[in-house]
Amino acid sequence: MATMRDPFAPPPDDPRRQFRDLEATLLRCPRCAAAVPVRKRLLLVLPEGDKFEYVCVRCSATCGTKIERPPPVALRL
Ligand SMILES: [Zn+2]
Repeated sequence: MATMRDPFAPPPDDPRRQFRDLEATLLRCPRCAAAVPVRKRLLLVLPEGDKFEYVCVRCSATCGTKIERPPPVALRL
């Protein structure tokens, strides 16, 4: 009930954990006209994957979006 779990933190055995390394990156912000640190925000859950947007930490402009497709599961099991 009082679990303060980060919704963006998958369990350690989640294959999507690898994406966390890519999130600590700089993107070019159209408003700041510079590479800025960005925050990742879940926008939509689509059938083909989760759609995230990257938001500038300075001015909150959207710097980009990405759809993270879930890895193919159990196709070979
Ligand atoms: Zn900005």
